[in-house]
Parts: sequence; structure tokens; C-alpha cells
Amino acid sequence: MSDKKSFETARETLKQLTARKLAPTPVNYKAIYNEIAGIPSIEHFPAQELRGISSALQAKTPGQQRQKGLLESSIDRMNWDGVRSSLVAYCGFGGSTVAEPGTVSSSSSGGAAADVDAVPIPMASEFLSQMGRLIEYAQPALGADDERFAEQGKQLIRALKEPDFDMATVKQMLVNYSHRLSFAAEDQSEIKKALLKLLHLVFENIGELSVEDHWLKGQMDSLKTASVPPLSLRRLDDVERLLKDVIIKQKEAKQKTLLAQDEMRSMLASFIDKLSQITQSTGSFQEKLEDSARQIENAKTLAEIAPVLKEVVGATRNIASDTLSTRNELQTMREQANTTQAQIAKLHQELDRVSTQARHDPLTGALNRKGLEEALEREISTFRRKETPLSVALLDIDNFKALNDSLGHAMGDTALAHLAQVARECMRPQDTLARYGGEEFVILLPDTLMDKGIEAMTRLQRELTKRLFLAGTEKVLITFSAGVAQVATEEPGMDAIRRADQAMYLAKRSGKNRVIGA
Ligand code: GH3
Ligand code: MG
Ligand code: MG
Repeated sequence: MSDKKSFETARETLKQLTARKLAPTPVNYKAIYNEIAGIPSIEHFPAQELRGISSALQAKTPGQQRQKGLLESSIDRMNWDGVRSSLVAYCGFGGSTVAEPGTVSSSSSGGAAADVDAVPIPMASEFLSQMGRLIEYAQPALGADDERFAEQGKQLIRALKEPDFDMATVKQMLVNYSHRLSFAAEDQSEIKKALLKLLHLVFENIGELSVEDHWLKGQMDSLKTASVPPLSLRRLDDVERLLKDVIIKQKEAKQKTLLAQDEMRSMLASFIDKLSQITQSTGSFQEKLEDSARQIENAKTLAEIAPVLKEVVGATRNIASDTLSTRNELQTMREQANTTQAQIAKLHQELDRVSTQARHDPLTGALNRKGLEEALEREISTFRRKETPLSVALLDIDNFKALNDSLGHAMGDTALAHLAQVARECMRPQDTLARYGGEEFVILLPDTLMDKGIEAMTRLQRELTKRLFLAGTEKVLITFSAGVAQVATEEPGMDAIRRADQAMYLAKRSGKNRVIGA
């Protein structure tokens, strides 16, 4: 407003005060002045207090800064609508876009305010699409039994990937999904627990049924061990391989046993046949003898006796040769029966051997933890009985992770088998090799003082430098760090292994590829 106009407005205001017979107070003057000037007449606009509020507001993000600026200009103009809009927008600065005070725009519309929230919106959209991927990846773990839940998941994933998502809708969908998810996750965990319980029941019952069958018991033991949480795919895979092996052997044994039974049955049948033939031929021989005896009794001349005797001699010769051939046949049958019996015994031994794999690690053929526990118990009791020294060594391959990383996990497996093979060949027959963990082995050394145990491990290290591991055409040197402990008189075996483990760690810390006594 120009000065001239202000002057005229002021004069007109004074005229109006007189005309309306109003007292010339500042409030009356201001009201009339605003009326004439066309300024909205707001009584008691608390500009000062509002400025106080505005200055207390933070302005960290561009959205906040913008809304704070809009609030201040609204206060200057005593514009309540502007004040309200800018405050509302400030509160929801993440998604709301207030273009100008008094004109609240929708979150998805662009326009003048789009630049205000240009930073948060792409961030939110990236965040939500990441959340969509997360839900997508987690979906298989939740099963597909609940069709409605699966459909809800799909819809949510689609909505989260939409570039023009509607915040309120997505939020509601997320709320519904997470509500249902809490039940689904609980269900899956319960199902897993129930299945495991069922599996254990089955294993235990089969185990109970087969007290006699060592091989089946071994199989059941490995299944029980493998199904104790935490389940690992690798462990289950190993057991699956072992089980397949046992199942093949079982089938083979069954077929061979059936074949052997058939052979036995047919041998028995022909034996009975022969026996009845013998009875028959001896019966007719008997009759012939009695008949001849009667003829001899009644004979009056020697000439009459001669043909009878000839017949008797002939019959006797026949029966002698019959008996001989029958004896030979029976002899052959007995030999066959012995062979079959030996075959069956061998099959049983084979089954027992396979069942012992429940105590062995299928990859390296070394004893597994269970096998080690049993072997250690045996060695400890011999050590106490005979009072001979017993040492335990624990070795851990150096930098095995790096070997896996550079050559691949399968080659890593072959390297483990190689080490086990060299160790077995390098050890005395009375020593026991066991796989203690991933790339850790324990060797039980009966009748061995600690120093001798250290020597044995150093020998194995030397042997490995001679017998390099062949990864394709590449020659790889496998080194290990080891700790050796001599079991103390009253010491539990596992405590000695723990001491060896600590010594092994010392060997690692002092540079690896060395052996330290505990
Ligand atoms: P350090 O010399 O200190 O012992 O280092 P490291 O890499 O040998 O030991 P670390 O404990 O870091 O890694 C052991 C690796 O052994 C990691 C794991 O993937 C691998 N591993 C464990 N079991 C097996 C297995 O059965 N086969 C294969 N290929 N790798 C295995
Ligand atoms: Mg290790
Ligand atoms: Mg290692």
C-alpha cells in the first residue's frame, strides 16, 4: 500500500469513527482501518507466540525447512489457514506435500511441492521394494498350505514394488500381513517340532524292534544323531549317503539270503530223495538175500547153489556202488551247504561293517564324535588297567578356509580325505584317528609319552610335505597345527582333549604349522 493510500485510509477511518460514534481506541481504530483497507480482521492474532513456536521447530531436512519458512510467512500475514497447513505438513514432512499454505496437495501428486520431498520419496520407495524382496525370499519358509496368506503375500509384494505406491494402503497391507505372519511363523515352528518328535518316535521304535540286528541299530543311531537340532543340510546329506549305502547292502543281503535258502531247500529235497532211494535199494537187497537164502536151503546140489551165489554177489556189488555214489553225492551237498553258510556269515559281517559307519565319518572314514567317545573310553580303561601312558593329539588344518575358497568346497573335502589317508598310513595300527570337527582331527596314541606323541605329529607333518595333495594338476601343501596332551591318571579323556585343543591354539598363535605339548 502506498503512503498516499495509507493516509487516505487513515483519514477515512477517523471519519468513520466519528460517524459510527465509536470511542477512538486503538482496537476500534485498527478494526475500522482493516475494514477499509480490506485486510482480514483477526482479533488477538498471537503472532509473537506463534513466532516463538516456529523458532522452536527444527529445520534439519529440506521438507522441515520449507514448512518452517511457510509457517513464518503465514504468521507474518496473520493467515490462520497457512499456519495450520504448514504445521500439519511439518508434522508429516516424510510423506505429506503441502504446496502452499492453505492448499494441501495429495502425497502422490507432484507439482510445486514435489521438490520438497524429493529426497524422502525415492528413499521410501527403495526401502519398500527392498522389503518386498525380503518378504518374497522369506515366503518359501512359510509354506504354501494357507492359500489366503500366500495370496496376501503376493499382493503385498506387488504393492511394495509399485513405483507409485500409496503409503496408507501399503501400511494397512503390511499391518494385515504381519498379523497373519505371526501365526504362520508360529505354525511352521510347531510343525517342525512335531515332525522331529514323530521322527524320533519312529527311530526309537524301530530301534526297539531290532535289538538283535546290529546293522539296523547302527543305522538308527546315525539317524537319531542327525535329527537332533540344530539341523544342518550337510549333516543330513552325509547321513543320506550312509543310509543309501546301507539300503543297497541290505537289499543285496536279502537277495543273497533268499537265494541261499532256495539252494538249501533243494539240497534238502534231493537228500531226502537219495535217502529213500537207499532205503528202497537196501529193501530190495534184503528181499533178494532172503530169497537166495531160501533157495540155498532148498538146494540139493552145488550146481543149484552156484547161480544163486552169483546173483547175491551181483546184488551186493550193486548196492555197494549205489551206496558209494550216494555217499559221494551227499559229500558234495555237504560241501555246498558249507559254502552257502560261509557266504551268509560273510554277508552278516559286511552288514556289521556297514553299521559301524554310524561311528565313522563317511567323508574321511575316520571315527566320528560318537566313535571317538567309545574309543577313548576303551583306551582310558586299558590305560588305567595296564598303567601304560596314553597321549591324545588334536590337529587343525591351517588356513583351510582359504583352501576352500581358492579350490572349492568339493576339493576341500578331498583334501580332508587325503589328510586322513596319510595320517592312517603314517600311524601305528593301535593308534586311532577320529574327525573331531570340520577340519579338526583327534589321534589317540596308546602306550605313548607326550614327547613321543609330539614326535609322531611332527612325523605326520613331514609326511604331508612329501605327499602333497593333488588338486587336479596343482600340488598343494597341507599343513596343520597340533597340540599333544598326555592323559593324567585320574583325568577324564575329554579333559585331556581340551588341553590338547588349548595347546593347538597356542601353536596357531605362534605362527601355525607347529606342534606344541600341553
Ligand atoms: P586356521 O589356520 O586358523 O585354523 O584357519 P582356518 O581357515 O583353517 O580355520 P577356520 O575355522 O577359519 O575355517 C575352517 C574352515 O573349514 C571353514 C569351513 O568352511 C571349512 N570346513 C569345515 N568342515 C568342512 C568340510 O567338511 N569340508 C570342507 N570342504 N570344508 C570344511
Ligand atoms: Mg578349526
Ligand atoms: Mg583351521
